[in-house]
Amino acid sequence: MLTDVRRSMALHSRRFRTSRRRDMSEKSPQATHASPQALRDSPQALRDSPQALRAEAIESLLIERGLVTEADIDEVIARYNERIGPMNGARVVARAWKDPAFKRALLADGSAAIAPYEFEGGQVDKLVVVENTPSVHNVVVCTLCSCYPWALLGLPPRWYKDPAYRSRIVREPRAVLREFGVQLADDIQVRVWDSSAEVRYLVLPQPPADCAAHDEAQLAARVTRDAMIGVAR
Ligand code: FE
Repeated sequence: MLTDVRRSMALHSRRFRTSRRRDMSEKSPQATHASPQALRDSPQALRDSPQALRAEAIESLLIERGLVTEADIDEVIARYNERIGPMNGARVVARAWKDPAFKRALLADGSAAIAPYEFEGGQVDKLVVVENTPSVHNVVVCTLCSCYPWALLGLPPRWYKDPAYRSRIVREPRAVLREFGVQLADDIQVRVWDSSAEVRYLVLPQPPADCAAHDEAQLAARVTRDAMIGVAR
């Protein structure tokens, strides 16, 4: 049985290895490609980075020594991509839009509020849910690495791990949000939340204008991963 640490290491290394085989297809803020920093952080640079090479080497060693198999790694990736993904977070958001008592509980203690769902995936032991309002926009980052509420959102997108996103969203959040297509009026306050190994954040987007006309499942289908990170509104 793999320990969590080994699974995590294997998963990370596979993600790097996969990234070395594929070109980036995720939407990413323009400037991560256009700026000098972006050029340093290009997909090619990421694929050839010492971290990627080290991760690939670790994965190869784990497989070689029989501690993990490629099938194990594929299973973990499939689990997060296909069976967890952002749909868990979307269900939670849609319920909060329809159920005021659940919303209050979610904002008061995110981990406790979602515990009854028994979502698999982890990384939500200390979940803080932050609410967008007409006057406040929240956005989440992990400036140190890529901490993310896996059980709710699945695997983090490539750009979430990009050094350009991690540094720029703190320094110039409005500019980065504009690159994601989010235009915020000057009187809207932007709050940037820095995730860590201890605390993971989920943005509760504002409900759509026609919220009352739809049930939770219909609403959940309209909640995007990006809105729950805060790079969509
Ligand atoms: Fe992190």
